[in-house]
This record gives sequence, C-alpha cells and structure tokens, in this order.
Amino acid sequence: MASTNKTTPRILVLGSLNMDLVSYVPHHPSPGETLTSTRFNVSGGGKGANQAVACAKLSRACPTNNNNTAPGGDVAAAAAAATVQMVGCVGDDSYGTALISNLSDRYGVDCTGVLRRSDLKTGVALIIVDEPTGQNRIILSPEANHAGMGPEETMDRLEDDLRGGGGGVDLLIMQLEIPLPTVLSALALAKDSRVPVLLNPAPAVPLPASALRGLDHLVVNETEAAILSGCDVSELDTEDGLRRVADRFIGSGVGNVVITLGERGVYYMSSSSPKHNNSGGAKMGLVAAEKVQKVVDTTAAGDTFVGQYALEVVTGQKKKDGDGDGGGVDVETAVRKANKAAAKTVQKLGAQDSIPWRDEL
Ligand code: ADP
Repeated sequence: MASTNKTTPRILVLGSLNMDLVSYVPHHPSPGETLTSTRFNVSGGGKGANQAVACAKLSRACPTNNNNTAPGGDVAAAAAAATVQMVGCVGDDSYGTALISNLSDRYGVDCTGVLRRSDLKTGVALIIVDEPTGQNRIILSPEANHAGMGPEETMDRLEDDLRGGGGGVDLLIMQLEIPLPTVLSALALAKDSRVPVLLNPAPAVPLPASALRGLDHLVVNETEAAILSGCDVSELDTEDGLRRVADRFIGSGVGNVVITLGERGVYYMSSSSPKHNNSGGAKMGLVAAEKVQKVVDTTAAGDTFVGQYALEVVTGQKKKDGDGDGGGVDVETAVRKANKAAAKTVQKLGAQDSIPWRDEL
C-alpha cells in the first residue's frame, strides 16, 4: 500500500463503501403504487467511507478555500493532520469508479486498499425520504461489502498494515457493515499487533465477549448501546442509567466508552488504566450537545463524531510516543471537540458533503 510520512499519524478505516440513491417523495408508496419523486440524488455513502471522509476532511483545511493550497484545490497538496487509508471492496463498475475517485480526489483518502472485483457489484443503498416528515426507508444491498470482504479475502491485505506495528497504523476504525467474522479477525490481529482500535458497532448486533475485551474505544449511539449491553433503551434516559451501562462496558474490558445521545449530546467513561487516558484515573461525564440554530439533517452526525474523536486520539498518542513528555489521549477533550464537529454536520443537508473541513469548525 502507499508509503506515508511516519511523523503524520495514520488512520486505517476497514469498512463499507456504498452508492446512496436517494428519492424524495411526498409520501411513502403503498404496495403496487408507482410514485414520482420530487427530487433525486446520487452520493457516496457507507459507514466505512463516511468515517474515512470525516477523518480526512477534519484533518485538513478545505482545498478550495483561499490560501489553503495550490490553485485548483489540490486536496493531496493540502497539509493534513493525519493520513487516512480505506480498506474495502467495490465492483468494477461505474459506481465503484465514482466512489473511489470521490474518496481519493475530492477528500484525499488513500484508496490503494480498496479492492475492485469484476465479479462483484458495488454496494448500493436505496433511500426513500418522505419529505413532509423527513422519515427514511432504506434498502441496503451490501454486494461487494459482504461478498468481497470475508476474512479470507481481507485478512491478508491487513497483515502488512497491522502486523507487528510494522505498517505504522496508529488507529484502526471499524463498523459492522462488513461481515462480522472479518471484524472479529481484524480485532484479534490488531490486539496481537498492539494497534489501537475504535469500534463503532453499527448496525448493532450482539457481540461476543472477546470483541469488547481489550477494545480501546467503543463509540455507540443509544440503540447500539442498548443492543450491545442488553439494557432497555429507557435506561439511557438518566445520567445514573448511562453510568451503569457505560460501567458494564468498562467491566467487559473496554478502555473508553462513548455513548452518543443525538440532541442530548454525549456520555463518556474511561477506565482507570493509564493506557486509555491521560487523566491518571477513571473519568466520566455527560457533555451537552451544542446549541444549533436549525437542525437540517442529522445524517453523518455520528460519522463526523467518530472522525474528530479519532483525530484527537491519534494526535494524543503521537505526542506521547514522540517526546515521552505528557501527551496521551485526553478523552474528555476528544469528546468535546467531536461533539462540536458533529453539531456542524446536523446544520447541513447530505452525508459526506455535510461533514465540515477543519477550517469550518
Ligand atoms: P447517530 O447518527 O450515529 O445515531 P447521534 O444521533 O447520537 O448518532 O448523533 C451523534 C452526535 O451528533 C451527537 O452525540 C451530538 O454530538 C451530535 N448531534 C446529533 N444531533 C444533534 C443536534 N440536534 N444538535 C446538536 N448536536 C447533535
């Protein structure tokens, strides 16, 4: 895979790439009904790709803003706080081509780890948005995200990057839009290779205990927290309940637990291990969401949160590794900055488009 500057932190996202086909309709169609949409939009999506874009955009100033880079907005020329690499699979079709060029040319994500398979189709999400209520109905066709991302196809490709830390990856980010056995194998390899992991288990399924044991960062929304912990989602209504649920995850061996709460903000808890945070003890708290003038579209808010949080983690780690003097992961600051970045995203329409560049924060 592409060689990178060793002093710049390196984030590897292992996950899905989808083409989102979005139709906006006056009402959801009944069985047998043919409906004419009022608007139609095609855009890059998939949780993996969205989080790679979030890391890449939040790590550099917008290349087309004045003075940030060479004329013409060359994203590769814009200084970035982190190198972001995507590992995934698409078909050898027009959607695959568009997704890769969008990620690399527009946002500066290294896509040399995205496999193109002529025998597979690129993943697609058909999204129907009921305009009056904003409610979505989504049909996900994973295609290459499943068929091309089994452990046997994927683990060889990850070995070089993770094994023995030789690849220099500072953080591995994963979601659950690729086969679970691949995620579990990658978790085991990362643990073995001492590469820190951020898991955003979306869409959530109950996970084996081994997945949480030794996991550095678990970022979940309320639904995911309930499914993973087995609690009732109403338990997350109070700070006491949030503390109990987060404590259960810490008890399962997670280093840092972050529960995003939409318009309520975020709850976080760190274990007392100095490996996981720089505060010298357990730390927890509720951080209120930023007040925004108007919520336009919350798509990609969680992905933006993950991107900014990840950047804070790798920057803190690098500081500690670099001068041996302080540094380390300041979880509270990471959560506060991520909360701010995600609040920007909810004020704009779209997924990858709505994620802010660093100079827009
Ligand atoms: P997901 O999109 O993954 O379900 P959430 O809905 O919990 O995630 O949102 C993720 C984060 O986005 C929240 O923790 C918060 O920081 C921010 N956010 C979401 N909705 C709002 C809102 N209405 N106002 C301000 N910030 C918001």
